[in-house]
Amino acid sequence: MHAELIAIGSELVLGEIVDTNSAHIARALRGIGLAVERSTTIADDLPKITALMREACARTPIVITTGGLGPTVDDPTRAAVAAAFDRELDFHPELWRQIKERFGRFGRIPGDNNRQQAFIPAGGTPVENPVGTAPAFWVEHTAAYGDGVIISLPGVPREMEHLLQARVLPFLRERFHLTGVIKARVLRTIGIGESNIDALIGELEKLTNPTVGLNAHAGNVDIRITATAESEADADTLIAPVEAQVRAALADHIYGQNGETIDQVVGRTLQARGYRLGIAESGAAGQLNARLAVLPMAADVYAGAAPLGADEDLALAAERIRASQQAHVGVALRVYQGASPMDPRGLELAISDSTGTDTQRSGYGGPPASLPLWSSTLILNLLWRRLR
Ligand code: ATP
Ligand code: MG
Repeated sequence: MHAELIAIGSELVLGEIVDTNSAHIARALRGIGLAVERSTTIADDLPKITALMREACARTPIVITTGGLGPTVDDPTRAAVAAAFDRELDFHPELWRQIKERFGRFGRIPGDNNRQQAFIPAGGTPVENPVGTAPAFWVEHTAAYGDGVIISLPGVPREMEHLLQARVLPFLRERFHLTGVIKARVLRTIGIGESNIDALIGELEKLTNPTVGLNAHAGNVDIRITATAESEADADTLIAPVEAQVRAALADHIYGQNGETIDQVVGRTLQARGYRLGIAESGAAGQLNARLAVLPMAADVYAGAAPLGADEDLALAAERIRASQQAHVGVALRVYQGASPMDPRGLELAISDSTGTDTQRSGYGGPPASLPLWSSTLILNLLWRRLR
C-alpha cells in the first residue's frame, strides 16, 4: 500500500523554507510498512490545492497534507478538503473550546479568525492539537479505487511530528490493517566516489527486496539497504546477507552506519587513543573547527584552532600546531576558493603526528559553496585512516 504527501505553503515553492515535513513523514510511514509514492509541494492557492487533492485521493488511498491550517484567510487547507469532496465546513464547539483554553493558558484571548480553526469538513474526524492551536483532521472518502482517507496536519514541524506519532500512525495501522515494516540500514562510506562504489556493488543495486541505493554527499556516500517484511526481525534477516556483501566489497571505506557521522567516529577514535588534535585553517570558513568543536568529547580531544599565516608552509604549520597546542595530531588546511568562477579551486593540507608529517594537494571541481564542507570531510577521512 502506498501514500501520497502534499506540502502546502507558498514559502515552500518560493524557496524560502525547505520542506522537511515530507521527509519526516515519509520516514515515519516506512516504520508502518507504507511507502510514499509521490510527494508534491504547492502554493497557497485554493483552486489548485483542491484539484491536486482530488487527483491524489483518486489514485492513492492515503493522502497526508501539511500546512495551511492557520487562522488567516490565506490558510487554505480546510476549505480545499471541503471543496475537493463537495462538503460544507462544520463548526465544532469542542475544538473552539480547546482553542480558547489553550489561549487562556497563555493569558490570551483568541481572535475571531482563530474561530476559523474550529471548522472542519463535514463528516471529518477532528484531531485535537495539544502542542499548538491549529486542530488537525482527517476525512474518509470513496474517491480512491477502494476507499481512502485524507489527513491534514499543521505545518509547524513540532506540531506535525507530535500528531503524526500520537494519532496518525496508530490510526493508519488499524484502519488499513498494516502489519508490515520497511526497515533501512545505511552503511556510510568515505574516500570513495559514487561511480567506484557502483562498479563494485552494481549487481546488488538491481535487487528488489531488499533494495540497495546510493546517496552521495559532499565527500561521502551512503549505501542504503531497505527491506519490506512482516516484522523487524524478518527485515533484518533479509538485510543481513546483502549487508555482508556490501561490507566485504567496501570494507576499507565503511566508517559507520545509520546516523553515525565521520565527525563522531574520528572523535571517538581520538578519545580511545587518548589523543588531542589541534588545527589551523584558512579559507575554509571555519568549517573544520565548527565540526570538531561541537563534538561531545571535544573537551578531551580537541585542542582548538590557531591562525594559519598567509605564506606559512603547511607541513611546518601542522608541526607548529602540534607543539604549541600540546596536541598529538596537528592539522593545517588552506582552501583556495579562486577569485572568479573559472579559477581553479582546491586545497592544501598537512597532518602531523609522532610518525611523521604528510602533505597533500587536491583540486576540486564540485559546487564552490560545498568546498569548505568537502575539505573538512577530506581531513576527517585522512584522520580516520591514520588513526585506525
Ligand atoms: P499555523 O497555525 O502555525 O499557521 P499552519 O498549519 O498554517 O500552522 P503553516 O502556516 O503552513 O502552518 O506553516 C507554519 C510554519 O511551519 C511555517 O512558517 C514554516 O516555518 C513551517 N512549515 C510549514 N510547512 C513546512 C514544511 N513542509 N516543512 C518544514 N517546515 C514547514
Ligand atoms: Mg499558517
